[in-house]
Amino acid sequence: MLFDSHAHIDDAKFDDDRAQVLSGLRRSGVGLMINAASDIRSSLESMRLAETYDNVYFAAGIHPQEADKASERDFAELERILEHPKCVAIGEIGLDYHYDEPAREVQRAVFYRQLKLSAAKSMPVVIHDRDAHAECLQAVKDTGARGVFHCFSGSAQTAAELVDLGFYISFSGVITFKNAKRAVEAAKAVPMDRILIETDSPYLAPEPFRGRRNEPKYVEYVARKLAEVKGVSFEDISSETFSNALRLFGIDSASL
Ligand SMILES: [Zn+2]
Repeated sequence: MLFDSHAHIDDAKFDDDRAQVLSGLRRSGVGLMINAASDIRSSLESMRLAETYDNVYFAAGIHPQEADKASERDFAELERILEHPKCVAIGEIGLDYHYDEPAREVQRAVFYRQLKLSAAKSMPVVIHDRDAHAECLQAVKDTGARGVFHCFSGSAQTAAELVDLGFYISFSGVITFKNAKRAVEAAKAVPMDRILIETDSPYLAPEPFRGRRNEPKYVEYVARKLAEVKGVSFEDISSETFSNALRLFGIDSASL
């Protein structure tokens, strides 16, 4: 069984077949999945999905692209949602300097606030880092927060530094793309006991589905590519990434 450590099945692209996708997870080889939120509304929707489906857990948090809309009420609501038994992380949170919108200082303030919350609650974070590698690294050093860098796009050197700090590194369908040299090099630098796999559905469908809507079942293609990169079997990468995710998110395997 595979663990899709990051997907957005609350996204409107699943409005027509959400129940089918989620109730079919096990049949398609996905044992567990984390639904990652981007704001309070999607945190609540993720919570509802986790309450409906046994094998769905969730992360609640405010994405950097939503940082300018976050109110004090949202932060109070977030703290309440984090108490939910199936909420296993704060995320996704981070910095996205690709579009420079919202303003960097707004993104930074919301990111730091949630990093501090995670440190205070000893809850892992799910970090979105786009074109902000140095600053994200500094932020986790400053706050002592720990967790996973999702859809990792940094260098092998940054990956190694994050692993030394205690972080997990998650790879997505990007690793299957023809020009994915950087992601492949980073994957080589991460020890087996720190790797996670994800789809980031509905985005980033792996080859041979690139450009189409992504689904949790395609996490298999990420695992296959990663097995090739690490020189291990598909079974080994599946079981290692599964137990890594259980460990990081504090999910008791006896409860499965
Ligand atoms: Zn995401």
